[in-house]
Amino acid sequence: MHFERTQYEYMKIIGLTGGIGSGKTTIANLFEFLNIPVYYSDVRTRFLMENDPIIINSMKEHFGNQVYSDTGILNRNFLGEIIFKFDAERAWINAIVHPAVGIDFSHWILNQQSKFVLKESALLIETLSIQPVDKIILVIASLPIRIQRVSKRDQLSEAEVKRRIRIQISDEERIKFANYIITNDGNNSIIQQTLKLYKTILSDLTND
Ligand code: ATP
Repeated sequence: MHFERTQYEYMKIIGLTGGIGSGKTTIANLFEFLNIPVYYSDVRTRFLMENDPIIINSMKEHFGNQVYSDTGILNRNFLGEIIFKFDAERAWINAIVHPAVGIDFSHWILNQQSKFVLKESALLIETLSIQPVDKIILVIASLPIRIQRVSKRDQLSEAEVKRRIRIQISDEERIKFANYIITNDGNNSIIQQTLKLYKTILSDLTND
């Protein structure tokens, strides 16, 4: 019997990850200029946490109504405090949210037309076993630069940013999984690197 392969099966998924403040989102935005569809996992996660009734109910039952504002907006400060302080609570949220994001991604990719798509995720490597990708781009930047960027962007103390960075896996660990690396220390052209990488990925996918 002959089965048609769906477009989804052909579409290559390139994961894009990096530590907090490395510049994942900035690089993902550049790929969008090249017409590459990007799935922003962290943005979609937040969307699902505010719109999926099953997740909303579970969250309220677990953390109390204070986890959302009166208008249904996620209380990110409250959640950030919990997620970055208590391993068990972080694991609980991940167990609820990651499967939903996996399903959301599989719906999203069905509507894309491209040689490849990018999946931007802070936890790409941590969730690889349940949400596999074809190749991985890692964005790296030095620790002092990341700390400076995030404390400025999110109005957090340096100590708090360092604490959040320590919870994630290290770049040494991430590098073991990476197929491609972009360095975003501020003094290297990310536009040039992204363009070069775009061409390399297209060529690698043709040769695979
Ligand atoms: P997070 O995981 O915390 O969401 P991220 O890895 O997605 O972070 P970005 O949001 O892309 O990182 O970048 C963090 C901050 O640093 C942003 O405010 C961004 O504008 C800034 N930034 C990123 N790359 C550069 C750069 N090359 N030059 C100057 N600022 C940059």
